[in-house]
Amino acid sequence: MKFNTKTIHGGQIKEKAYGAVMPPIYQTSTYSQKSPGEHSGYEYSRTQNPTRHALERSIASLENAKYGLAFSSGLSAIDAIMKLFSPGDEIISTNDLYGGSYRLFEKVFKKFGLKFVFTDLRNLNEIENLISSKTKLIWVETPTNPMINIVDIEGLSKICKTNNLLLAVDNTFSTPFLQKPIDLGADIVMHSATKFLAGHSDVILGLLALSRDELAEKLFFMQNSSGAICGPMDSFLTLRGIKTLHVRMQRHCENARVIANYLKKHDKVDNVYWPGFENHPNHNIAKSQMNDFGGMISFTVKGNFDLVKRITSSFKVFTLAESLGGVESLVNHPATMTHASIPKEERDKIGITDNLIRLSVGIEDISDLVDDIEQAIN
Ligand SMILES: *Cc1c(COP(=O)(O)O)cnc(C)c1O
Repeated sequence: MKFNTKTIHGGQIKEKAYGAVMPPIYQTSTYSQKSPGEHSGYEYSRTQNPTRHALERSIASLENAKYGLAFSSGLSAIDAIMKLFSPGDEIISTNDLYGGSYRLFEKVFKKFGLKFVFTDLRNLNEIENLISSKTKLIWVETPTNPMINIVDIEGLSKICKTNNLLLAVDNTFSTPFLQKPIDLGADIVMHSATKFLAGHSDVILGLLALSRDELAEKLFFMQNSSGAICGPMDSFLTLRGIKTLHVRMQRHCENARVIANYLKKHDKVDNVYWPGFENHPNHNIAKSQMNDFGGMISFTVKGNFDLVKRITSSFKVFTLAESLGGVESLVNHPATMTHASIPKEERDKIGITDNLIRLSVGIEDISDLVDDIEQAIN
């Protein structure tokens, strides 16, 4: 099955009771048993739920993985991975990281003895120097948020294999439509399905996909033991969103391409961060590991925070809001919104300055989006 067909049919099975085309929302906590211990494969909905299973099979299929696991949020999916480790273990991650992941690592898991080393994962040569006998995992996001840097997944996976480390990729920005980390050698793929996968800004949900049996067993154990599972309604909504992933992503990418080129020529705009530009420092890696360049763009305007505040408050079609990946276009000011939990010095070091604006380009008519940016900047 090819990708577009998989978004609709991947991992799906015929519903036996009435031939329902969509998997029913099994809004039930428990399942009747014929005799003690003799059940249909479903005992209790924290452990197994048929609607959640349909979603888990879908993400496994889309990521070319053997297993899928669904959680109540992207962060709870990351939380399950981090609980595989023990005090003293070290994790290397990117210094240009989703703010909530940074907070989970530094404010929660550090307390339990995990050590996080943040670095620019684009410099593959320097990574080996950071690996110690305690290093267990490299955690990567690509494109990064909000600086839209690209990390070489295949290059990293070779380093991980040589050093016997796990490689986990947060694939939220790309989705499997653009990039399939497991095919590039990653061990675990993580998604905030809240974003492009569900795609309609109406659900919070996290997903994992992986192929290694033993690792999957540990994660299923963690999913059931910690219990941060998603409900059947949210599983259903995410599955429904995934069915149009390919058509939405195509339009997100098309619209973002036009906007990136428009911003590049604008005299009030300084820098535009979009991996489709030939002079983007990681353009060639983006071209080789992604099918297109995605719907996320960041840019800086010439001016101070007051001007940026005026611009970001003046949009009419774009909505000023956190989050990304929905059908509607959003504008975000990382320094005060999504990345406010990162200390200012750290933010400035990696480029999240007060005049940086991030766009999640939606699938509206492109002329309305360009007109809106034009009037807001002016
Ligand atoms: C939103 C997001 C998360 C966290 O996901 P939630 O569903 O909000 O818990 C993690 N990584 C990235 C890149 C995100 O954009």
